[in-house]
This record gives sequence, C-alpha cells and structure tokens, in this order.
Amino acid sequence: MKSKIGGLFKTVACAAAVSCAAFSFTSAAEAETLRVGTEATYAPFEFAADDGSLTGFDVELIRAIGKEAGYDDVQVINMPFDGLIPAIMTSQIDVIIAAMTITPERAERVDFTDPYYTSGLSVLIREDTASKYPNIDALKGQTLCAQIGSTGAFTAEKLSPGKVKAFNTEPEAFMELKAGGCEGVVNDRPINLYFLSQSNASDGVTEINEVLTAEKYGIAVRKGNTELLEKLNTGLKNARENGTYDQIYQKWFKLAPKD
Ligand code: GLN
Repeated sequence: MKSKIGGLFKTVACAAAVSCAAFSFTSAAEAETLRVGTEATYAPFEFAADDGSLTGFDVELIRAIGKEAGYDDVQVINMPFDGLIPAIMTSQIDVIIAAMTITPERAERVDFTDPYYTSGLSVLIREDTASKYPNIDALKGQTLCAQIGSTGAFTAEKLSPGKVKAFNTEPEAFMELKAGGCEGVVNDRPINLYFLSQSNASDGVTEINEVLTAEKYGIAVRKGNTELLEKLNTGLKNARENGTYDQIYQKWFKLAPKD
C-alpha cells in the first residue's frame, strides 16, 4: 500500500513538472539521432544549398542509410575536413561522410564501412599554362594548391615537397590557382569536374587529362563501434539493392553507377 502511494505520487509529480517531461523527451530523441560530420564545401558530395541547408550525394546517401538503419533523425554537422577524425574520436559525432578516401593511416584511427564510391585524383591548371603542363609529371617542383589533410595534399607534397599551399576548403584552392598563386590544384576528380561545369567560377581553368590514383570512399565510425558499422553496411547494401543508391547517384552524377 505504502509503495503504491509512493508510485502514484511520483507519476503525478512527473506529469506536472515540465522539466521532467522535457527531460524524458530529450533522452528519447537523442537515442535516435545519428550525428554525422562532413565538410560542406565539396560539391557535388556535400555543400550548402541556396537556403543554407546541406545537400549533395553524401548527404542524401547518409540520410537514406540512417533511415534504413532505424534512426528518426540524421543530423548533418559541418566542420573542417581535418577536424572530422578528431571529432569522431572524441565522440562529438557518430559518423563521418565527407568523400573521405579509405587509407591505411586513417583506418588506424577510425573504422570504415564497405566502399560506397570509387574516385581518383586529377589536377586543375590555368588554360594559359596548358602547353607547359601536358601531364602531371611536368608539374613536379611547381607550387601546388590542395585542401588541408586531403589525399590531394599528400600527393601534391610528393610531387613538390615543401611547395604546397594547403587551404581549409577547396574553393579557396581554386581561387588561388585562378589568381596565379599556384600552378595546379590536386583534388578528387569528381569535384574538379563539377567545378569545371560551373561556367563563371571555372573560366580560364582546365584539367590535365590524367587520373592519378584510384581511391575508394568509405563512411567512418569510431574505432570498435561495430554495432553502428554493421548497421551502416546493411543500410548501404539495402540502398544499393532497393534502387535508392542509383536514384541518388543519377541525381548528382547523371550517369549509371560504376560500382
Ligand atoms: N577524398 C579526399 C580525401 O579523403 C578528399 C576529401 C575531401 O576533401 N572532402 O582526402
């Protein structure tokens, strides 16, 4: 009898207190939110639409996979590219999707899902230097631009040790190339091609017709978070099987998927 009254009192107190109701709502919502980090100046994979919302191939893919994996809410958070792995290691985010290449060095710090996209590096130069740089080798030792912490920056450093200008975002690297501050931008090819398709921004810029390396993009989770990794791999597999992956691919690349 005593405990029944106690229980009843507790229920009434909880229902009456706004903070109690708000608290239980918050914890339930948090349990179902997937916190995703990205670097949103990397069109067509992740960028801000005119209304400020984040969009692109990766953003739509992780929303679809998150839904598939049972998350009510997929929250996409913009941060610097070289801050993404530190943010996941300190649990500020649960997942990274950022056109991030699976590399052995990164795989020591995070776990990657199965690859979701095959990419490669290419180099943009100014049109007026095209005859000087018929291939990538010709750029060796020249000042190059790239994004901080990217595979493009690592490759540029191998081509021109100590002569790489690294920027937080790729658009800054493109601007520096146009302004004559470097001779080439080493970057992921699909982003270079998208940039070249934007007529005004890319006027006077062209691509050296050579692909440097094959790279595979993966979605990263905290090292050892196998439960989430499995959910994402299943979600990715389902998205490939039920046509969602193809639909998103068509929207952003207008071609049949290669992989
Ligand atoms: N794919 C490249 C890398 O992983 C570039 C990614 C990016 O700049 N968003 O380093």
